[in-house]
Amino acid sequence: MTVTGRVDIVGGGPGALDLMTVRAWRLLARADVVVMDRLGPTDIDELLGPGVEIIDVGKHPGHHPVPQDEINAILVARARDGMRVVRLKGGDPFVFGRGGEEVAACRAAGVPVEVVPGVTSAVAVPEAAGIPVTHRGLSSGFHVVNGQAELTPSTLAALADDAVTTVVLMGVSALPRLIAAALRAGAKPERPVAIVESGHTPSQRTTRTTLGAAVTAAAIAGVRNPAVIVIGEVAREGLLDGLALVSGASVDRQAG
Ligand code: SAH
Repeated sequence: MTVTGRVDIVGGGPGALDLMTVRAWRLLARADVVVMDRLGPTDIDELLGPGVEIIDVGKHPGHHPVPQDEINAILVARARDGMRVVRLKGGDPFVFGRGGEEVAACRAAGVPVEVVPGVTSAVAVPEAAGIPVTHRGLSSGFHVVNGQAELTPSTLAALADDAVTTVVLMGVSALPRLIAAALRAGAKPERPVAIVESGHTPSQRTTRTTLGAAVTAAAIAGVRNPAVIVIGEVAREGLLDGLALVSGASVDRQAG
């Protein structure tokens, strides 16, 4: 069977519409169907043509309203119906986004599929709080982990290495376990920690603390998902004062 439709797996960035790529905007403007998540840009109506079908498969931490198999099946079925499907995902599709599985499902079904990179929260959310994931003289590399996964030896090594930044996604509920493991692995309790919630949105908030105090600080602040946790010298308060990239503020300033 020749498939006339297609699927584009599109990275939508951390949430602001103007942090999507031009290619993402173009594909959305031509889409027949958009299959979207809870994270990333949700307010996309103005980018779509008339009569576009929107399917929300948004996942919430702890439960998955639409299982991955079903999402894959929706993508394949709509493309087989001859439709141009945009699978819009938060951040970048290949950073904890299960984009690879969706590509594989389309390929297995003979559906043409392409991937569009997105601005990943692993870098852009710390950035929104003025935190560079690397910084000459402070951090020579960064290690990105899923807080829900088992801690590997390389993550423990990164946590204990003063010259490496650790960036944790999906880490809010795992924070106590993570911190305990880091301290056991030899990380210093005074190592700076920043927790950035809802980066690049109007409700962005940053909690600055240290490894030793992070669990208490997060509880007092009532830290909630989505949040990116940054562990390392770059997370120290005041490193780059005045850098604010929140919600298009810098664009507005330039325009004004
Ligand atoms: N593919 C995505 C990550 C998906 S995992 C990317 O590249 O960004 C989902 C996790 O991403 C969340 O639990 C949170 O840790 C992080 N995240 C995504 N958007 C965020 C935002 N706007 N603010 C803070 N964290 C965010």
